[in-house]
Amino acid sequence: MAKTFTGTLFIFSAPSGAGKTSLVKALLDSTGYIGVSVSHTTRSPRPGEVDGKDYHFVTKETFQTLIGESAFLEHAQVFDNFYGTSQRWVESELEAGRDVILEIDWQGAEQVRRLMPEAVSVFIAPPSIEALEQRLNNRGQDSQETIERRMRDARSEMSHFGEYDYLIINDDFNNTLEELRAIIIARRHRLEAQQTRHAQTLKNLLGEG
Ligand code: GDP
Ligand code: ADP
Ligand code: 5GP
Repeated sequence: MAKTFTGTLFIFSAPSGAGKTSLVKALLDSTGYIGVSVSHTTRSPRPGEVDGKDYHFVTKETFQTLIGESAFLEHAQVFDNFYGTSQRWVESELEAGRDVILEIDWQGAEQVRRLMPEAVSVFIAPPSIEALEQRLNNRGQDSQETIERRMRDARSEMSHFGEYDYLIINDDFNNTLEELRAIIIARRHRLEAQQTRHAQTLKNLLGEG
């Protein structure tokens, strides 16, 4: 049976380089408490990436073991690497009433939607293919070969935008940030969530406290 949670699960997908990670980082600094799931990955850390903070960096063997232990809410192969979301962490955050963001690809989004149909999904697209390539180059953290691979896969990732609840074009960064914040804040004020969060206030207002 599906479990019910007070917190909202947000799924963000985008082609590599569209701006997901910098948008999520800026959101965390400005939108009250929201947690971001730290995925497991078999890819190598980029310069500056910290194990346990950006990703849990694991070997293919460890990843397979975790699959065998049903540790993942979802997992998928993206480019040449495996990525997966820890089920236990996500569920405990949602149970505690906290909102959680997953930065995952379209295959993972499909799996999570099936398990948790109430999840809110957002697709973030770049304003153009040229801008996407420029951002991957400007980020300066991937080899030319890796950038070419990611550009080759960008169109197939973007072809899935129609499966998402919201579509955002990350042209001006600050506008995009406002749009994402609006989605999160509106969702937090849905009746079911507010009734749980403000149960006592509502009783008081009705003279039932
Ligand atoms: P970046 O998106 O350019 O920063 O590159 P990454 O190597 O960090 O991520 C590559 C892709 O893997 C992105 O499309 C992510 O959305 C996706 N990804 C990251 N973590 C997960 C995960 O836990 N599950 C799934 N299914 N995809 C993930
Ligand atoms: P992703 O996590 O989707 O791969 P990043 O957050 O790493 O993308 O962003 C890729 C690059 O694009 C980074 O160098 C980031 O600073 C830059 N960037 C993000 N949003 C914008 C924007 N609206 N305009 C220009 N550059 C951007
Ligand atoms: P951060 O992770 O600090 O949010 O962003 C990472 C990098 O992306 C920083 O160097 C930041 O300046 C850059 N960045 C974020 N938004 C924009 C934007 O709208 N335009 C440009 N050109 N760079 C941006």
